[in-house]
Amino acid sequence: MATNQEDLFKKITSHCKEYGFIFQSSEIYDGLSAVYDYGPYGSELKNNIKSYWWKSMVQMHDHIIGIDSAIFMHPKTWKASGHVDAFNDPLIDNKDSKKRYRADVLIEEAIEKIMAKAEKEIEKARNRFGESFDEALYRTTNPRVTEYLTKAQSLTDRLTKAMSENDMEALKNLILDLEIADPDSGSRNWTEVRQFNLMFNTQLGNIAGEEGKLYLRPETAQGIFVNFLNVQKTTRQKIPFGIAQIGKAFRNEIVARQFIFRMREFEQMEMQFFVKPGEEMKWYEYWKEYRMKWHTALGTPETKLKFHNHENLAHYANAAVDIQFEFPFGFRELEGIHSRTDFDLKSHQEMSGKKLQYFDPESNENFIPYVVETSIGLDRMFLAMMSQAYTEEMVPDAEGQEAQRIVLKLHPALAPIKCAVLPLVKNKPELVELARKIQYQIKPLFMCQYDDKDAIGRRYRRQDAIGTPYCVTVDFESLEDGMVTLRERDSLRQERISITEIGKIVLEKTGWEQIFNQ
Ligand code: ATP
Repeated sequence: MATNQEDLFKKITSHCKEYGFIFQSSEIYDGLSAVYDYGPYGSELKNNIKSYWWKSMVQMHDHIIGIDSAIFMHPKTWKASGHVDAFNDPLIDNKDSKKRYRADVLIEEAIEKIMAKAEKEIEKARNRFGESFDEALYRTTNPRVTEYLTKAQSLTDRLTKAMSENDMEALKNLILDLEIADPDSGSRNWTEVRQFNLMFNTQLGNIAGEEGKLYLRPETAQGIFVNFLNVQKTTRQKIPFGIAQIGKAFRNEIVARQFIFRMREFEQMEMQFFVKPGEEMKWYEYWKEYRMKWHTALGTPETKLKFHNHENLAHYANAAVDIQFEFPFGFRELEGIHSRTDFDLKSHQEMSGKKLQYFDPESNENFIPYVVETSIGLDRMFLAMMSQAYTEEMVPDAEGQEAQRIVLKLHPALAPIKCAVLPLVKNKPELVELARKIQYQIKPLFMCQYDDKDAIGRRYRRQDAIGTPYCVTVDFESLEDGMVTLRERDSLRQERISITEIGKIVLEKTGWEQIFNQ
């Protein structure tokens, strides 16, 4: 990570804590690694992201319904889904530092470094040749660049092969060939690579041993698959249709860093779309486009998002792509879109002995539908929104002097607090009384806040720092003319509006219609 990006990431992390967005879990006991609690503003922002997803996927979509299934499921579920046997990460320990790493991540990082060398050469040439630079030609003809790129490709091929064949020895050989050292200690004293299952387990009641072993779900999808027929029959759905849900998932992640990017307890927003076999690629394309629009409709620039095709397909998929977001530490997976074939329904049918087929009234046929899923981590989306919104900029202060402010430029519909009500001064009871009256008038409509501490400029800064899109200031004139000043967070524009209009105006500017009527 470049130092300025590293700095930015640190700033975002501490901003999240300082302003009550995110706290480390059980902090008074020195925290629990990769587990976090959401504070007052964090939980509002998180709820708003959930709401946006639910509205777009369930409320606004004609062919999707929502459910809320339990975290615990029958243990056979995880046998059928492949998680007991195949939900493994390849791990390697460093004997000197005693640190544990994911072997595939170490290798990927080493390959990225080689690619970065090629990109650096290309960048240098671009600066040297200026306008006349033919990048495509340079990439294929410059000896140093082609050497780096060919090397990176052949290493990627070896990694893909080793991962798909579960070949732990081949992974170890890659680590040795690449001379990868422990990022922490620099030591190359490695153990063998071993498989490690990512599911947490616990014990059911008083049943000892394997029989009573329960897993904390590592994904929400299986709750949808096992309920497929219940939902389809009770709501009389015709294929194609989807089932959506938002809920907690748990993974015993080894590489647990980067704040809320990789957590051991997190939330997923998943949707499984059931289609006729043979039509899955059409729907796969449909969902790629639909989901990308969901992101850009929030104002996320297209340059910050990209598709990344999976080369190493999971055991259940026949096509898979990630939507990557440019976090401060680079482009990383934010969401996955997977064509899962009939793998899950078929396995559950076999394992349970219950038919999980759809009867098509048009063709009079029974079949197991194919599935295209979209799966996004709520916490990762939170981090993406925070990284994008966090801005440091110079603006004129109350006296007209340039001053730095930190502002969260969140989409107004996502902002935790929509409007702050501020009496110009707090020692005038009439102003306080009117401001309180306004606060109670708009409270039922959206989250709002009353603040009378400190000078008005400082109060504006506090609202900027939590991303409040509108501030209403009640001054002496307000007592006479029933008007207040409405200040807009990003443009700093101020306008006088009538007290009776506040609710309507703020609701209009911060409501979901803004996004859905684009
Ligand atoms: P990764 O490769 O980063 O481990 P994955 O491919 O295993 O992710 P999926 O199983 O496809 O992830 O899960 C779908 C989504 O759930 C991911 O795109 C991500 O947003 C989110 N997610 C997965 N694991 C975590 C985690 N440990 N912490 C936070 N979010 C996660």
